[in-house]
Amino acid sequence: MTTGGDGRLEAALELLRARGGRVTSARRAVLSALLDHEEHASAEALVQVIHASHPDIHLSTVYRTLDAFEQLGVVTHVHLGHGRAVYHLTDEIHHHAVCERCGAVVQLPLALFAQLHDRLRDAFGFEVDAHHFALAGRCASCLAETRAEGERRPPAAAAAEADAGDAGDDLLLAGDVASEASP
Ligand SMILES: [Zn+2]
Ligand SMILES: [Zn+2]
Ligand SMILES: [Zn+2]
Repeated sequence: MTTGGDGRLEAALELLRARGGRVTSARRAVLSALLDHEEHASAEALVQVIHASHPDIHLSTVYRTLDAFEQLGVVTHVHLGHGRAVYHLTDEIHHHAVCERCGAVVQLPLALFAQLHDRLRDAFGFEVDAHHFALAGRCASCLAETRAEGERRPPAAAAAEADAGDAGDDLLLAGDVASEASP
């Protein structure tokens, strides 16, 4: 059933056992579906994949299984927009940015948020979980399309676009950017 994900499946099963979780056929099926599915599957999408081989596994079981996996640290979820939570294995943790126009999901390296994480903790005593929700905005191709269409945008968007070439670390702390900006 899996296509090339056997190594990851075995590793996930091993982690599950190491954390004291039982391996049942339902649990194996959920992990396998997570690996078979393209990135970021909702429980509803997973149950459709699972039903191809296990028609007896119901959505409520998939939810319970995902909950158990999260408590055991094998799986994590993220909210990409207004929709349902989507899941992925914890062997590849990343941050997410989602395009509000086309729904494209961009995976961002953890390191991108390290500085923001430390600054929020030091300055505000707040420990941010930057992984739980996706950043919202527009992907590169939607920006290019809307630019080509000559769609009218608010001045703020146009200004952001002008800076987009060398965004890099500057996007992390608006305060620093503002204080360095010259009139
Ligand atoms: Zn992800
Ligand atoms: Zn959540
Ligand atoms: Zn887009």
